[in-house]
Amino acid sequence: MYFSADAFILAYASIFGLIAGSFLNVCIYRIPKNLSIVRPRSACTRCGAKIRWYDNIPLLSWLLLRGKCRGCNAKISPQYPAVELFTAVMTVLFVHKFGLSLWTPCALLAVYCLIILSVIDMRLMIIPDRFSIGLIAVGLAICFANPAFEGAALARFLSSLGGACAGFFGMWAVALIGTFVFKKEAMGGGDVKLMGAIGALSGVMGVVNALIISSFAGIFYFGILVLLRKQLDNGTIPFGPFLSVGLLFNLYFPAMVFFAP
Ligand SMILES: [Zn+2]
Repeated sequence: MYFSADAFILAYASIFGLIAGSFLNVCIYRIPKNLSIVRPRSACTRCGAKIRWYDNIPLLSWLLLRGKCRGCNAKISPQYPAVELFTAVMTVLFVHKFGLSLWTPCALLAVYCLIILSVIDMRLMIIPDRFSIGLIAVGLAICFANPAFEGAALARFLSSLGGACAGFFGMWAVALIGTFVFKKEAMGGGDVKLMGAIGALSGVMGVVNALIISSFAGIFYFGILVLLRKQLDNGTIPFGPFLSVGLLFNLYFPAMVFFAP
């Protein structure tokens, strides 16, 4: 049988993505609790049984165990296989599109941070600073490999920095106006910092683009909630996952903007 080099690379990318997703799950669970992400080994949250290596294979183990702990039958959240599958799909998509270029690992680092912060925001309504501010730093550091920017090193850095400022201060202004109009905090500080990260990674136009995409994603989500007649928990939704969808688009389509001056 003959496999092309591309097929091999994508097969490796999918396995790497599944393993990366498994690690992202550990980060999602432990970082908000300020636990170490390297030790101890994972254990069942109910019975405390250490999870054996053969029960810790991404995606497969959850399916074989039918989503239950081997020891006590406690339900294992479908969030685990969902994060693993999504991470693998994103890894394959980025490796397939950008190949073995410097941008691929840079973009994937940002994508993995977005997955962690989105799930944490969905669960706890917070975006940890180390991801939002961390992504601003990442965006500035990798502007040289970023296909969203062009020109010499200084021009690229200034585009990234300008984007970060536009995203951060633009969103801050929106948050201030929202607080004034609604008489309560309409937009969290985490969203403001995440918008700065969107600018650092995709420039001023990327900020506008991400806002448009995340607004549509939000409206789409609301539409589904209305169709399913579901109520919102405590009347608010985390905005981080929607902004993350916008940034994912920008990272995957660096040259595509809906709104051009
Ligand atoms: Zn258990």
